[in-house]
Amino acid sequence: MRNLKRKSILSIILVVFVSTVLAQTTPKISYFKLQDVRLSESPFKHAEDLNMKYLLTLDADKLLAPFFREAGLQPKSASYTNWENSGLDGHIGGHYLSGLAYMYASTGNPEILKRLNYMINELEKCQNANGNGYIGGVPGSKALWEDIANGKIDTGNFNLNGQWVPLYNIHKAFNGLRDAYLLAGNNTAKNMLVQYGDWAINTFAHLTDEQLQYMLRSEHGGLNEVFADISAITGDEKYLNLAQRFSHQYILNPLLNKEDKLTGLHANTQIPKVIGYKRISELDGNTAWNDAAVFFWENVTQKRTVSIGGNSVSEHFHPVDDYSRMLSHIEGPETCNTYNMLHLTKLLYRTSLESRFLDFYERGLYNHILSTQNPNTGGLVYFTPMRPGHYRVYSQPHTSFWCCVGSGIENHSKYGEMIYAHSGNDLYVNLFIPSELNWKEKNIKITQTTKFPEEEQTQITVHPRKTTRFTLKLRFPEWASNQNPEVHLNGKPIPVFVTDGFIGINRKWKKNDKVTLKLPMKVTVEQIPDKSNYYSFLY
Ligand SMILES: [Zn+2]
Repeated sequence: MRNLKRKSILSIILVVFVSTVLAQTTPKISYFKLQDVRLSESPFKHAEDLNMKYLLTLDADKLLAPFFREAGLQPKSASYTNWENSGLDGHIGGHYLSGLAYMYASTGNPEILKRLNYMINELEKCQNANGNGYIGGVPGSKALWEDIANGKIDTGNFNLNGQWVPLYNIHKAFNGLRDAYLLAGNNTAKNMLVQYGDWAINTFAHLTDEQLQYMLRSEHGGLNEVFADISAITGDEKYLNLAQRFSHQYILNPLLNKEDKLTGLHANTQIPKVIGYKRISELDGNTAWNDAAVFFWENVTQKRTVSIGGNSVSEHFHPVDDYSRMLSHIEGPETCNTYNMLHLTKLLYRTSLESRFLDFYERGLYNHILSTQNPNTGGLVYFTPMRPGHYRVYSQPHTSFWCCVGSGIENHSKYGEMIYAHSGNDLYVNLFIPSELNWKEKNIKITQTTKFPEEEQTQITVHPRKTTRFTLKLRFPEWASNQNPEVHLNGKPIPVFVTDGFIGINRKWKKNDKVTLKLPMKVTVEQIPDKSNYYSFLY
């Protein structure tokens, strides 16, 4: 009897353990494809339109030039200047593929698709000419990767064998191919991506783990994430093994032990590594790596982030108890960091459904990302100084090719990615951005009308093909959470309550049903995280 009881307790514990493991690493919701979401008139739509113009004014042949040169082919044009011909050659070409893929998915614009297909076809020529799967603009690529493959490795934070962050550079091309396939359906890009993955396996195959970890001291973007993505795309574990090998233990191990060793480190070198730990945990079920990513996110957002949702001074994490440099230095939060923090947040929300992730996402999106584009020229921001009375510098669209220009042309192409999500019969409204959603699976269209944050409400209109029961889950933000939620259905108030950050309305929805959610705003103050005497006013 006793034994039996113990057994049943054990099996209950096991069931709980297994379901907790699954709960942390498998998605609880699905995001809609960007193709299913269209923005309506708003500052976000303006940013998208302007970024589309910018993408089309960029010269594809100039961006391709470094890839041609390294493949031993004659470039059709000279390279762009700035970071594009001084060592980081080709990094923008990779971001450009991603920016075009996001923009095509977000708008369906045929010119954008034509440009993307042109880029892929030209890069395929480079891959064929290289003959080993490689595609890259890193100066002296052939000799560099041969040396690395033979174990001749000399690493610094921002260089590898004397070249400027080549692993970071090739990560952009990997991402671009992945996005061209996943977002725009380009099958050539998929084949190229897989061959490129094989090149990586072959190139690093003979390095010991010690040699590889030494090499990973050099900034390498989120190579572990994209290798995990190749594994998910192909179903082949060998790419997941590569992703695990490419996970930098120096950063991972303290996070596994819940230790904060981030002060002084280059911020945007670390964030993509953590995205990779999280992505790998989704594929191999390793909850410890998931928890390491959550610990990192909590540390950065709670202790290292200012009110706009950005972090770092002069690209580095400063001491958590001393924000003086943040307030005096001309180089405040970097755009790439928030781009990557929002990506990490998107992954963490998908497997947890915790509304705190959306609260951060909203803050960073509205207050940092949206503001990093010059609304007239489309130029992009590197640093957003917190220094009182300071100004910001926007890129010159055809002569500035910084990292934040690369992440910038992606940022303003994908505003539809987090507005909605779904799970079974639940439809989540995460963000208050005017838009139209086509929930194809249910034959339902949704229109969101709002001038938020210029007005304190949003309105959802439901257009089902036929009367359909589902639960509409409206996010009730943390900043409104001390007020009573107020919802009108077809003009009449209905009783609602907030559960886990959402207001759920379950009913049989019919054509033109309208739900209005009030979003009462007020002015609050927020102290800077080091508790010195600086406050932000929030509205
Ligand atoms: Zn940057």
